[in-house]
Amino acid sequence: MDRVYLDYNATAPVREEVKEAILPLMNKALNPSSVHTSGREARAIMEMSRREIKQALGALDAELIFTASGTEANHLAVLGSGRTKVAVSSIEHPSVGKVRAVTNIISVDDHGIINLGDLEKFLKEGYTEKALICVMLANNETGAIQPIQEVVDLARQYGAYVHVDAVQAFGKIPVDFAALGADFMSVSAHKLGGSAGAAALIVRKGIDVKPQLLGGGQEKYRRAGTENVLAIHGFGVVAKLAIKELEGEAIRQQKLRDSLEQQILNIAPEAVIFSKAVKRLPNTSAIAMPGTLSQTQLIRFDLEGVEVSAGSACSSGKVEVSNVLQAMHVKHNVAETMVRVSLGKESKKKEVERFVAIWRELYAQGQQQAA
Ligand code: PLP
Repeated sequence: MDRVYLDYNATAPVREEVKEAILPLMNKALNPSSVHTSGREARAIMEMSRREIKQALGALDAELIFTASGTEANHLAVLGSGRTKVAVSSIEHPSVGKVRAVTNIISVDDHGIINLGDLEKFLKEGYTEKALICVMLANNETGAIQPIQEVVDLARQYGAYVHVDAVQAFGKIPVDFAALGADFMSVSAHKLGGSAGAAALIVRKGIDVKPQLLGGGQEKYRRAGTENVLAIHGFGVVAKLAIKELEGEAIRQQKLRDSLEQQILNIAPEAVIFSKAVKRLPNTSAIAMPGTLSQTQLIRFDLEGVEVSAGSACSSGKVEVSNVLQAMHVKHNVAETMVRVSLGKESKKKEVERFVAIWRELYAQGQQQAA
């Protein structure tokens, strides 16, 4: 039985193009700080990737600092910004929400969209010059897309910086750093088919970033540690592919996703699809199956060869009720029945059909048990 992978928001399988690009480099000694020929070759590879990623993100005029993960890029933005008041939306990924420097939480509405009124209240309370606002571009669980330009407009009026976590958005929707007008933005290679181990923080020109890792002078003294040239090279490759394929893939995946949701709602009109009423990533669907716990669903899907998740990939391996849904005021007994499907490059109609067939059986069993 072929396994069906519908968990692209957790990570995407490494693209063949990335493997092909990286493999020949594995025989080389690639430290970009070395002055010899191999070192200079490493630097040239890294600088090419830096350009490719900036180009893909409309960030040619910005600085790009390579990090080892999206988590690290988020920490570098929050801690390196030097701001003493840090307000984050209540649906941020934990790699933003749990940073110890966070001082304030900005609420979201029932669709998972940031309350601009709440944000303005925070800004008006006098935090202005020293504030950093963190709002993700697209949520990893529901796919809801946030009104970043409006956040930036508000923040500017009060002299606050804005950090945008675009880890889930990059490769799924167009991301243009210059057009967003933000000060910081995080992206991570493994979410779009690069390998884990390369990510980046984009920084608006002129902004100082305090390094969080000290040691060598890499990344212009803003992030010490030998760069992962192989993963960075792969990141450049997928950044270019993302731009080439984005429009076609977004349309294709959205059709598949919409068809999946329609079939689910035909089976169970009381099923809940979170953030369906607002702009979402084209590949993501967070679905509550009334009466059947997420964990029960996940185990059954897995036994049947289908890999999905209950919200964010749980690093602890436990299934917990999603804090994103809680922030959206979803009732506990509904939130605990959510499963997230996230499609990607290799997702096909027959895989969606397999998911729907298992969902139908599980739902019928739940109904029988309840009767
Ligand atoms: N931000 C968001 C929105 C994410 O979904 C994730 C990963 O799930 C991260 C940040 C963390 O990225 P990484 O896995 O590269 O640390």
